[in-house]
Amino acid sequence: MENVFVVRYSEIGLKGKNREWFEKKLIDNILRIVRPAAVNKRYGRIIVRIGRNNPDEISERLKYVFGIQNYSIGYSVKHDLEELKTIVLELARKHVDDGLKKFKINTQRGYKEFPLTSIDINRQYGAYVLEAFPNLKVDVHNPDFEIGIDVREKEIFVFSGKIQSSGGLPVGVSGRALLLLSGGIDSPVAGWYAMRRGLELQTLTFLSPPLTTEKSVEKVLELGKILSKYLPNGLRMWVVPLTDIQTYIKENVPDEYSIILQRRSMMRIASMIARRVKAKALITGENLGQVASQTIENMASIEAASSLLILRPLVGFDKVEITKKAKEIGTFETSIQPYIDSCVAFAPKKPATKSNIDEILEIESRLDRLSDLEYAAFKSRVDYRLKNEQ
Ligand code: ATP
Ligand code: MG
Repeated sequence: MENVFVVRYSEIGLKGKNREWFEKKLIDNILRIVRPAAVNKRYGRIIVRIGRNNPDEISERLKYVFGIQNYSIGYSVKHDLEELKTIVLELARKHVDDGLKKFKINTQRGYKEFPLTSIDINRQYGAYVLEAFPNLKVDVHNPDFEIGIDVREKEIFVFSGKIQSSGGLPVGVSGRALLLLSGGIDSPVAGWYAMRRGLELQTLTFLSPPLTTEKSVEKVLELGKILSKYLPNGLRMWVVPLTDIQTYIKENVPDEYSIILQRRSMMRIASMIARRVKAKALITGENLGQVASQTIENMASIEAASSLLILRPLVGFDKVEITKKAKEIGTFETSIQPYIDSCVAFAPKKPATKSNIDEILEIESRLDRLSDLEYAAFKSRVDYRLKNEQ
């Protein structure tokens, strides 16, 4: 007998080549993130063999693999009808202890030489369960729990219960994107949603040394560590100093526009880095209307500076929902630490809420040192590489 996990993924919209690619990527990601003994693909399911690993740890790590809808805990047993009975009763007992009442046995017999048909097995093992737990009832249409039996040529899988996982698509199937990661609550959550749609991430953070200290770097690395758990190849994090650009803008631009101009510089530098690392899009934690820099007019003025597609996964969420998600994925506590990123340090007293792109372009065209400063900032980028570690 061996512990296994039976992993299910959503097949909706997956056809032909797409499906093969999806499954291959999912299996590869399970191997890298969960690090089980082995995985096998069987009829639209993936069997994760855990070998000597601790099942609780494996179960925990499966939650970090996007593309998995849900999974069951199960066992692989030999073609041994007595052992099968023991396991079926053990699984049923767990559900009875949880107060469940109606069940169903669902057998699939891929190995046609097996002496019992799937209907025989359903009946016979259903009867064993009823005998052991007289308060249970069979309900094939609306069971509280299901015990799955999958008879294969060399073994039988027995499993039950469905643990919901994170859903989405396997990281990597949608290509790579660069997340603009501030120290705030929103951008790590935006990164989580981007990864959930199959994007592999790298991050970019702008800091304002010496106004920001090593603590700000540590804080961002801490956030990165949480995101890296979902990334089979780990996370590459870029940090760029923005201080010279911010100072220059502050000295030469009306205070109310300084944020927009800073953000436009960020977009240009982000685009340069993204092209270098072959990222196809920028991701931000922007969310309509939360703060002055996030009116639709200002977002448009900022976006115009980017040469890449910008995705804003949080645009449809309320702050309460974003905060809830941040708590769920574990980034909230780090995000609320008081170490500032660059923007807070140079925030204007009263930022413009409705910028006009022509006016912005006109102001920007007078900043003749800006592109040199941006290039210098780009050149002084540093990167950190985090492994996928739990
Ligand atoms: P967050 O909670 O993510 O900091 P916010 O509500 O503070 O967002 P803004 O300050 O307008 O909103 O930032 C909007 C987005 O711009 C951020 O979500 C992030 O993607 C990007 N951003 C802002 N500041 C930085 C920074 N210093 N480095 C990298 N990206 C940044
Ligand atoms: Mg912020």
